[in-house]
Amino acid sequence: MDGSTQDILTVKKLQVNFHTFAGQVKALDGVDLSVKRGEVLGLVGESGSGKSVTALSIEGLLPQNAEVVGGQIILNGKDLLTEKQGEIRTARLREMAMVFQDPLTYLNPVLTVGSQILEILETDRRVFTPVVVAARLEDLNKAAREGTLTEKETREKASLEALLAEQTLGRREFKRLAKAYAVAILGRVRLPEPERMFKMYPFELSGGMRQRTMIAMALVRRPALLIADEITTALDVTVQAQILKLLRELKDQIDASILLITHDLAVVAEICDRVAVMYAGNIVEVAEVGELFKNPLHPYTQGLLAAIPRPDAVRGELTSIKGSVPNLIYPPSGCRFHPRCPSAFEKCPLSKPPLVEARAGHYVECFLYGG
Ligand code: SF4
Repeated sequence: MDGSTQDILTVKKLQVNFHTFAGQVKALDGVDLSVKRGEVLGLVGESGSGKSVTALSIEGLLPQNAEVVGGQIILNGKDLLTEKQGEIRTARLREMAMVFQDPLTYLNPVLTVGSQILEILETDRRVFTPVVVAARLEDLNKAAREGTLTEKETREKASLEALLAEQTLGRREFKRLAKAYAVAILGRVRLPEPERMFKMYPFELSGGMRQRTMIAMALVRRPALLIADEITTALDVTVQAQILKLLRELKDQIDASILLITHDLAVVAEICDRVAVMYAGNIVEVAEVGELFKNPLHPYTQGLLAAIPRPDAVRGELTSIKGSVPNLIYPPSGCRFHPRCPSAFEKCPLSKPPLVEARAGHYVECFLYGG
């Protein structure tokens, strides 16, 4: 689990506390996580396990009463907790984007879809000039390969190639290219009639269309890492399947990694390459999806999988994990799962187990493994 150059993101021993009137909530207790280039990593766990706090820490969107008390968040070689503010902002803008569960909360109701996409690109013209120029050049290069490039387009291609080298672009030219790029992205997320969509307001769109718009707003930045937080939870099953299919297609097209946060193991099975299981602010198990479903090692993961309803189960029989998620103002000592664990023994409340590689590429945080 050491960070390597194969990783676009490495989170090491991340600790986050929340200061509340009731006391200090120890929300993240040393989270270790890595996302490899080009993979989809699923982050699963119950509500309150720390999935979203992990995502918000990475994005720098923690609320004011939160405090990062330790650890590292390394994005493409840069530690987001120690670099200068300007560097961090640029790294975040350039390298990652986030899609949230409820598009209506994040879409501005009084701005058209197109204006909201252009607003993102205009937050930093210096960062996004190469992006919009490269997008237009991709179209022109494609036309050149197909032999359909007009004389005017040949001149435009030459001038854009020069601009790309100099990294300068006038405001009007930037706007023209940004608009064409935004419409193309709306088409890419399979929104019908993208030119018309560009001029529509969020209230005129269905739930699935709004989520596609949010994905377009994330993709427009050409992120190396896309963080998707429960993005299918509020959608009906058919639209959910369409959005997952779209994400899978886009991942290959844009050559990005995805950190997919969900409580739904069916979503993980559908789209992820690897999965990390979270419990009470810790990553307790990480493995490739097939391996985790076949050989769950951590007693919590075993409980989660046993709780999935199966068509062949005896009627009325549904297993659940005994007890409830602990209050993280007073988290259990040692292994935070010990009050609920059917395999707990004397050592478990005394100290926190380390994350060990129990099988090749299969990590678990439990004293039952690793000698
Ligand atoms: Fe259970 Fe102990 Fe393993 Fe924790 S360390 S999961 S309490 S057996």
